[in-house]
Amino acid sequence: MAFWIDTHAHLQSESYAADFEDVLTKAHAAGINTILLPGTDWPDSQLAVELATRYFEHGIIAAIGVHPHDAKTFSPQVAMNLRELALQHRGREVVAIGEIGLDYHYDFSPRDIQKQVFREQLELACDLDLPVVIHDREATADTLAIIAEVAAHRGLRDIPGVFHCFSGSVETAKIVLKHGFYLGFDGPITFKNAKKALDVLAVCPRDRVVLETDSPYLTPEPHRGHRNSPAYLPLIGARVAEVWDCSLETVAKQTTRNAQQLFLLK
Ligand SMILES: [Zn+2]
Repeated sequence: MAFWIDTHAHLQSESYAADFEDVLTKAHAAGINTILLPGTDWPDSQLAVELATRYFEHGIIAAIGVHPHDAKTFSPQVAMNLRELALQHRGREVVAIGEIGLDYHYDFSPRDIQKQVFREQLELACDLDLPVVIHDREATADTLAIIAEVAAHRGLRDIPGVFHCFSGSVETAKIVLKHGFYLGFDGPITFKNAKKALDVLAVCPRDRVVLETDSPYLTPEPHRGHRNSPAYLPLIGARVAEVWDCSLETVAKQTTRNAQQLFLLK
C-alpha cells in the first residue's frame, strides 16, 4: 500500500483542539503517514513545533514562520525566536521556514511590511539551509522579485521550496518552476469549476508536484462546506490521477517521493 504526505495542514489551529488525536488516527487510516504543520505567526509556530515534538513518531513535522497576513506582528525578537527554534529542531521536527510570502488579495498587513518580512525570512531560510513554504496570492511579480534579489546575493538551495496552493497562471507556473520550486495542489482542483489549477497541473512536471489539504480550509469535494482534514488528501490525489491518467497508487508514490526530496525527509 502506498503512503501519502500532507505537506500543508494547520492542525495546530483551534479547529482541531478538541479532537486532534482522532484526526490523526483517521489520517493514518487513510494512508497519510506524514503531515506538515506550517506556522503563521510566532505563537502558532511554537504550537506547531510542540505538536511535532510530541507526535513526531506519528508523522507530525513543522515549518515555522510568519504569514503575510501576520507580517505586522514580526519584530527583531520574533526573528530571533524563529532562528533559535529552528536551530533546536532543524533536521528533525522543523523541516522548512513557512508559511511566508505576500498576500495582496487581503492586504491584512501593509505591503511594504509584507515585503520586508518576506525578505528577512527568506534570508533566515538561507542562513539555516532550509526550504521555504511560500504563500503568494495576487503578488507573484513582487514575490519573484524578492526571491531573485535574495538568490542573487545569497544563492538559493537547488530545491528552494514550494509555492503552496499555487493559484497563478500557466505562464507564471513556468517561471516559478524554472527557479526550481515545487508546486502545491489542494482541494480546489476537485471543484466542479476548477480550470486554472488543472491547467497548471497538466504542465507541471510530475516530479515537482506535492499535495496538501491546507486543513482546515479548502475542503475537497465531496466534503466541501465542512472542516477539512488530512484524511481527505487522497481525494485530491484522485483528481491528479485523472489528469495524469494513472493509478492512485502511482500518484501517492510520486508525490510522496517529491515531498521527501523537498523537505529532506527519510
Ligand atoms: Zn496555509
